[in-house]
Amino acid sequence: MSEATPMMQQYQAIKAQYPGAILFFRLGDFYEMFGSDALEASKILEITLTSRDKKSENPLPMCGVPYHSAENYIARLTKAGKKVAICEQMTDPSLPGIVDRKVIRVITPGTTTSEQVLENKRSRFICALFPKKDYFGLAFADLSTGEFYAAEFQGEEALRTEFLRLQPAEIVLRREDYEDPVLRAALAELGEAPISSCNFYEEAHILLTRSFKITTLELFGIANLPFAIQASGILLRYLIDTQKEGLSHIDRIQAYHRESFMPLDEATIRNLELFSPLRGEHEEGTLLSVLDQTQTSMGGRLLRQWIARPLLKKEAIEERLGSVENLVKDEELRAGLEDGIEGLGDLERLTGRLSGATGNARDLGGLAQALGRIPKIQAVLGGAQAPLLAELRGKLKPLDELVALIQSAIVDTPPLRLTEGGIIKTGFHPGLDELHGLMKDARSALRRIEQEEIAATGISTLKVSFNRVFGYYIEISRGKLDQVPPHYIRKQTLVNGERFITPELKEYEEKVLTAEERSKALEHELFLNLREEALKNIHAIKENAAVLAELDVLLSFAKGARHSRYCRPELVREPVLEIKKGRHPVVEKQSFEQAFTPNDAIFKADEDEIHLITGPNMSGKSTYLRQVALIVLMAQIGSFVPAESVRMRVFDRIFTRVGANDNLMRGQSTFMVEMQESATILRSATPKSLIILDEVGRGTSTFDGLSLAWAIFEHLHESIRGFTLFATHYHELIKLAEELPRAQNHCVLVQETEKEVLFLHQIKAGGIDKSYGIEVARLAGLPSPILDRAKDLLHTLENEKIQDPHKIPINQPTLFVRDPGTLTHPALERLKNLNLNQMTPLEALNALNELKKI
Ligand code: ADP
Repeated sequence: MSEATPMMQQYQAIKAQYPGAILFFRLGDFYEMFGSDALEASKILEITLTSRDKKSENPLPMCGVPYHSAENYIARLTKAGKKVAICEQMTDPSLPGIVDRKVIRVITPGTTTSEQVLENKRSRFICALFPKKDYFGLAFADLSTGEFYAAEFQGEEALRTEFLRLQPAEIVLRREDYEDPVLRAALAELGEAPISSCNFYEEAHILLTRSFKITTLELFGIANLPFAIQASGILLRYLIDTQKEGLSHIDRIQAYHRESFMPLDEATIRNLELFSPLRGEHEEGTLLSVLDQTQTSMGGRLLRQWIARPLLKKEAIEERLGSVENLVKDEELRAGLEDGIEGLGDLERLTGRLSGATGNARDLGGLAQALGRIPKIQAVLGGAQAPLLAELRGKLKPLDELVALIQSAIVDTPPLRLTEGGIIKTGFHPGLDELHGLMKDARSALRRIEQEEIAATGISTLKVSFNRVFGYYIEISRGKLDQVPPHYIRKQTLVNGERFITPELKEYEEKVLTAEERSKALEHELFLNLREEALKNIHAIKENAAVLAELDVLLSFAKGARHSRYCRPELVREPVLEIKKGRHPVVEKQSFEQAFTPNDAIFKADEDEIHLITGPNMSGKSTYLRQVALIVLMAQIGSFVPAESVRMRVFDRIFTRVGANDNLMRGQSTFMVEMQESATILRSATPKSLIILDEVGRGTSTFDGLSLAWAIFEHLHESIRGFTLFATHYHELIKLAEELPRAQNHCVLVQETEKEVLFLHQIKAGGIDKSYGIEVARLAGLPSPILDRAKDLLHTLENEKIQDPHKIPINQPTLFVRDPGTLTHPALERLKNLNLNQMTPLEALNALNELKKI
């Protein structure tokens, strides 16, 4: 670059302070980017790259975006994992000298509150991590709602669990940790969130107590958690450094008691299809999609959290179940609550916006509207029996005064802009009404002037109008120009006429414009005061939002329970699991052709702990296994369950290893993943766990696989002793299960008719040592010569017990030679003669039809 101008020197100095961010440098109506920022951003945003100092030897790359559409571009950059530092002009650019500039906010993937990035029913968390040997302090916040949590715990496994639940959008580390390659590599393993560094050299508890204006962290319940305090300090520092202001809705830290929740490992979340299906991207076909009947975005976000955090305390689960039962049984209560919640705005994100600079008058109106519902909801809940519902009712705060204040102040549909007036109702502020009166008077005076001038000049088409350049003027058409009185002052000539002003007109113009300016400024000020007033109640508003979200989820459970005929699970202290006529919550909604066949699952400690499930492919084993796990999980989040009845203990973990999933993304073989997942289970499961194992050992050779499955089954039976469902195609295990005292054989019923095999999807006691693989292959459409040959081979193998494939008698003719008769089949001939390259799709369709007839 040639000699740097003062402005470029300013740019370089500011850029040096934000090395990790793309600097949006405000220049008039644009944000400009330079150098490597420009190279990177122009690629992501697909905008034209130009350069500054084109004549110099090394022109500086440059690109820009208009300031009024900057939000779009910023959203795209944050979605791509980038940070954007917004540098504004702080002094009037029309004044002489260089404009003062300052970074007013850094928008990062974890701190963006852009509507274009946020999803309504999904939280967006930024996490700060403080590692110390094997211990971790973890703080996480959602800036759109103001939630801020802190926890500490031991072990990487626990960290993995929490990251899985949170799906952080960004992870913040202290600079020294950020520079530790081992830690960075370990975090990269855990997920894809971008990692940021924070210069944190202060005393965490001083920063926290000062910022939250409290004397002791006891208030937040984290005083004895030094690592959680450190992590909170790092997170808060990072938020202050990047956001500069607009953090008033983060008004407290909540201790996050991870030990109250059941940890769910990645395989279990994936295999049970809690949030995303094994195939495809959409949420359809997931537990979330079946359970989500929430009416608000807040409820939707909370439901997600509940599913990711099943409860471990019987009392806590019963509280939720009791509320759901109350809502299921009490029609009036349910309908009333449904009505009260319907159309409720996103109170959490509203407060987030109001405390940032983005909140507008509509948000304030939305706040009043939402809060205005509370008295009705409280009245409805007055009829509730369940203790939790009564407790939630007590936590609601109607904030009548605030609601009345906002409702008396803000018009029904206010504009989005805050500086253009039109926000405040008549009658709210006498000074404002006076200004509005002046404006109105002046306007009617202008109309009066118009009438008077028409009368005086006799020009009936004379018009008083307004534009931004000339203000008020009198317009006279070309044909009447000879009648213009001499005191008119000409201002502008048009094609069809001319524009004039008069001193009287200007006098009223002055009155209108000043009144308008003053009223706009006053309205803005009044709005800011109202916002301030609302923010004084932020604690109560957030509490209300949390309660309403919880009511929404409980109501959603009740609605689901009714529609889908779920029952209340009975939780007991005895170590049992008795599911009568259980169903798979998702599959039962998908099987259109055939009604879903319900099945029992009965376990009892010391007697009946591990079930071996055999049965052909496609008979419904996986469905059955998953349905047992899902019923337990649903019960422990407080939902009713798809069964006729359920009696169960509270489980400490649910483990699953289902099917042979390819995990190619991580470059590991299927079998490796399978064994890793099995290892997790064998390491962590306890007698209080529910364990679902489907086809362990399938990913390797028969004898390897059988041996592993055998050994794992024995170990589960002897040492782990959690309730286990173990599905396998190794029939050799049936004998083993017969012999072990606490193991039972179960199988899926099939009905063999002369022509085919019918899958009844019914589980019964006993083993089944036939695979019906050939039948399944037939259903799948394998050609009949191959099926016949396979049947022959199976027969030979079974009768002669040939274990070595090399000893199979070769019978090539039936397997590979086509039946000579079919070669001359007219359909084949016709098919051969088709010229696909020259056919239209319609012709192809017709040909297909023809072929079918032949
Ligand atoms: P497997 O694990 O034995 O190969 P799946 O559990 O994948 O079999 O089930 C195969 C198909 O059978 C499923 O896609 C489902 O549509 C159907 N199915 C499974 N269980 C039932 C049931 N209990 N009632 C009705 N249909 C079922």
